[in-house]
Amino acid sequence: MDRIRILVVAAGCVCVCLSGLGCAARSSGAPSVVVKRTQMHMGTLVSITAVGESDQAANQAITAGFQEVKRLEQLLSTWIPDSELSRVNAAAGAKPVPVSPDTLNVVRLAMQVAEMTEGAFNIAIGPAVDAWNVSAQPRLPTAGELEALRPLMNLRAVHADVRERTIFLDKAGMRIDVGGIGKGYAADQAVIAMQKAGAAAGVVALSGDIKTFGRLPGGRRFPVAIQHPREEGAILVLVDLQDEAISTAGDYERFFEKDGIRYHHILDPATLQPARGCQSVSVIAKDGVWADGLDTGIFVLGPERGMALVERLDDVEAIIVDQAGRLHVSSGLRNRVRAPSSSGRMGPER
Ligand code: AMP
Ligand code: MG
Repeated sequence: MDRIRILVVAAGCVCVCLSGLGCAARSSGAPSVVVKRTQMHMGTLVSITAVGESDQAANQAITAGFQEVKRLEQLLSTWIPDSELSRVNAAAGAKPVPVSPDTLNVVRLAMQVAEMTEGAFNIAIGPAVDAWNVSAQPRLPTAGELEALRPLMNLRAVHADVRERTIFLDKAGMRIDVGGIGKGYAADQAVIAMQKAGAAAGVVALSGDIKTFGRLPGGRRFPVAIQHPREEGAILVLVDLQDEAISTAGDYERFFEKDGIRYHHILDPATLQPARGCQSVSVIAKDGVWADGLDTGIFVLGPERGMALVERLDDVEAIIVDQAGRLHVSSGLRNRVRAPSSSGRMGPER
């Protein structure tokens, strides 16, 4: 009998290291109170940190950030039966569905990432994701089963109409899945909500999708630790961010092993099998939506084509661990990443 092992690493391929900061003393009149709260949304732990002039101001901004994440979850989650995306999927092959500017925006941005990654990023991959169902059901779909789904994954059959504000999927059975880009988008929008609420600086982290703005009291940038893809809880490298997002896609987040082979949740649209070139890809970009879309797309492209794409793009950097465990760092990041200190553990976030 086959030996099957399911390993699910709970969210957390990147963590923001704020240890030792707590609530800083008020000194120069600059905002100096740091508050952090964590809740569960979009199927993952969402941590929001705000720097404000007072406890109350920081907490108000955090509440605004969480509200925005919850609002977007109601639009984009395919786990919520009456979300906009669920309604778009349910109407596949039948009729266009009116959607909000946010849903339209995420889908259009996802199409752009698809173009940039030559189809490696594909939000129409939903039927194949379901066939693999990596988190719940460790069975291998047959080649015939997967090939039969292929016509449903044609991105040209996704019509996002800006003028009509509708999305239409051409064929019955198509499903769009923004799991590879939606959290980054939500992090961006939550930051905008926090800034409107008066936060001077902060971080929104939806598991491994993180957007930072401003600096910590005292002028430090936000230090972010990237998880080692094969040593649970160990830090691979650290990098300091300001007004930047980072997102990590890894084959250790959701996977099962069968006969010594790892089957994970990021699928290559060309083969409909788990992508094989990388163990993890972290992308740094100005916006979370790009960092999140590109980490998944680059994971599929593999280290060579993926890093070549990063080097062609302005304001995008990457840290890739390839299948053999070798580290690749993009040229703009080489002077910015640092090795962890002696302990090198992720540790509890504070
Ligand atoms: P991430 O953790 O950002 O890499 O996103 C992973 C999620 O994106 C998966 O759980 C799937 O829902 C979805 N996904 C898997 N493969 C692809 C792909 N090739 N293109 C776009 N989304 C994908
Ligand atoms: Mg992604």
